[in-house]
Amino acid sequence: MTAVIIIRNGRIIDPINDSDGTGEIWISGNRIVSPGSVDAGDAIRYDAAGSWVVPGLIDMHVHLREPGEEYKETIASGTRAAAAGGFTAVACMPNTRPVNDNGSITTFIRKTAETCPARVYPVGAVSKGSRGEELAEYAEMKEAGIVAVTDDGHPVMNSQMMRRALEYAGSHGLPVISHSEDAALSRNGCMHEGFVSTRLGLRGIPAAAESIMVYREIALAELTGCRMHLAHVSTAASVDLIRRAKERGVPVTAETAPHYFTLTDEAVRGYNTNAKMNPPLRSEADRRVIIEALGDGTFDAIATDHAPHSVLEKDIEFDLAANGIIGLETAVPLTLALVRSGRLTERRLVELLSVNPARILGVPGGTLAVGATADLTVINPTISFVYTEEAVLSKSHNSPFLGQTLTGKAVLTICDGRVGHDELQAR
Ligand SMILES: [Zn+2]
Repeated sequence: MTAVIIIRNGRIIDPINDSDGTGEIWISGNRIVSPGSVDAGDAIRYDAAGSWVVPGLIDMHVHLREPGEEYKETIASGTRAAAAGGFTAVACMPNTRPVNDNGSITTFIRKTAETCPARVYPVGAVSKGSRGEELAEYAEMKEAGIVAVTDDGHPVMNSQMMRRALEYAGSHGLPVISHSEDAALSRNGCMHEGFVSTRLGLRGIPAAAESIMVYREIALAELTGCRMHLAHVSTAASVDLIRRAKERGVPVTAETAPHYFTLTDEAVRGYNTNAKMNPPLRSEADRRVIIEALGDGTFDAIATDHAPHSVLEKDIEFDLAANGIIGLETAVPLTLALVRSGRLTERRLVELLSVNPARILGVPGGTLAVGATADLTVINPTISFVYTEEAVLSKSHNSPFLGQTLTGKAVLTICDGRVGHDELQAR
């Protein structure tokens, strides 16, 4: 049995228990126990003074590239990066090679993840091969352990298929995650359509390519009554639609990613392929609305859309480069910047990065209550560090934040009672 772990003097922020104050967390085996309830004789003790102790962070949108593209990332390397970034769990998108559209791939992912430092929740494909032609076998994948379905990477262009996906997934208690993009409108675009794209001479993707599909997804969630989760929302128009849908009680939830509240299309200047992603970085006006929507509850979650690519896919002409950036190791400092500027409360940060992802996916975690599974993260909000390529634990280094000084960091990550990342050091 694992030793007892005691974390003292930290500021414990646990929204579900409505608690925020200095205290002790005791862990015995893989459970959080009440302080003093077990023999502390040879306990491992951490002093978390100056840090926050929060429920383990859950990233509900990552790409782990295994099976099929292990040179970019593996389940092992991706979960090491996750633990270093403060995440005790990640949900991995099905666009691997082959696509996770059947129970055997789902089982492979879960088995491979068993010994990893973070939990891995596979997300199954909406359609076979994510080709948008025929629904995948949700029952079989659910049995094997999927927590949601999506064709992420590709929009489901056929509205009838999306309706059936919602009904089928809904009957199995699974949410559908939408990559909202009107492919006819975004085709051949490689950045946000606006002033910067014109100046750079690059084909743009209008904000409407996203919001048109967000509207369809809301309409389908309303029609079916089934749960729809909108991934990587990037535009002000989408936020407006989501806000109004929630007011009407439509069963829709939404996430955005740190890059959409940190950067704008200005980052593309210089044809920087580490600023190329889909949806693309948007305008300053969009960025401001995204931040507001994080604070007021329109967004339920912050997810990284961690998308590892090697230099082979990134160190090439901008329009040919792959979409996406890594994000697991920068999410905490980038989100903390919003807390420091007063636009997000500490409690909201924990809701966005832990409580709500757990609720949406229906997985354990999101609380430090006695008896809960021992998944927790200790965050030092003031420590500064230079984010360097050498320090990155992901196999890929495609980040626009390399070389920057970031403030705030996960210093201890415990998953299922086991230490997965430790910069705090027991004493
Ligand atoms: Zn996507």
